[in-house]
Amino acid sequence: MKGKPPPMKDESQLKGEGDRFLMDCIQRGDPAAFQQLVERFTGRLAAYATRRAAGTGIDPEDAVQETFLGLLQSMEKDRHRLGEVRSLEAYLFQILRNKIIDLSAKRPEAHGLRRIPIASEDSDGKVKGHEPIASVGSPSSYLQRDEEAQVRIRILADILDEVVSLLKEEKNFRDLKILELLFLSGLKNRDIAALVGTSEPTVTRAKQDALERLARAAARHPLCGRNSALHDDEVHTSDLIRRVWRQNLISCVKRSTLGAYALGTLERGWKDYIAFHLEHVSCETCAANLEDLQTEGKVNRRRAKERVFASSIGFLRLLGGR
Ligand SMILES: [Zn+2]
Repeated sequence: MKGKPPPMKDESQLKGEGDRFLMDCIQRGDPAAFQQLVERFTGRLAAYATRRAAGTGIDPEDAVQETFLGLLQSMEKDRHRLGEVRSLEAYLFQILRNKIIDLSAKRPEAHGLRRIPIASEDSDGKVKGHEPIASVGSPSSYLQRDEEAQVRIRILADILDEVVSLLKEEKNFRDLKILELLFLSGLKNRDIAALVGTSEPTVTRAKQDALERLARAAARHPLCGRNSALHDDEVHTSDLIRRVWRQNLISCVKRSTLGAYALGTLERGWKDYIAFHLEHVSCETCAANLEDLQTEGKVNRRRAKERVFASSIGFLRLLGGR
């Protein structure tokens, strides 16, 4: 098994070199690499599952176990799709979200009133939660999407990532907050201005700036060609932006930054932005990461990790034996 060239191609979009190496090893059936993956992600996934599944009767550990199995299954069956994965963390959270929805649909409560762990609106019409609002992409729906749509989604993820990364680099947290609310919450400009503590014309200008930056980034994109990634139909584009943004955790904060936030050692701009991202964008992924960091050492996830490993070992052997 060892010594084979990594099966994942160079065009893989995985951002971190470490992630790619880990995936290559797992794809060769390396149990130590899989263990490393489980060690690294179980805590944050379990924290997320516990938050999202509260009150549904779903066992968060079941959902986490199924998430890792889902990853191994997609390595076996759907390698093309896996080549489209940009961030291992985003991909795992995406599988977990779908698993929680699947598990809640299987429960008897699903036939009557049930609590679905996705976004909802409160009495003011403000969107709560950081989840896809309409249909949630199941793994099979990705297979059905045609190639053109896949390319468009990839371009959109790349250019959103570029524009948001630049705003973070510039520490332009005001515009970043405005964009998050514009694209993720669906709030009106007036309400966004109030939440961010700025004026309505500033919100309009920030949106215009962002759309121009996105268009420029799209024009530079090697896959873009003559077709702009941004459709004229703004509503449709916004829906797509929202979905791509959420699935790729575009504006989410690095775990190391969340660690500094937990320790209270972050500079004011970042601290203020993270509080906003948690409170007003209601990002469950960052909230889960933060909770996991804060409880590290206090919460023992050994049982969860052992369960994941025991249930996955057969699949790992299958991968390695190919
Ligand atoms: Zn986040």
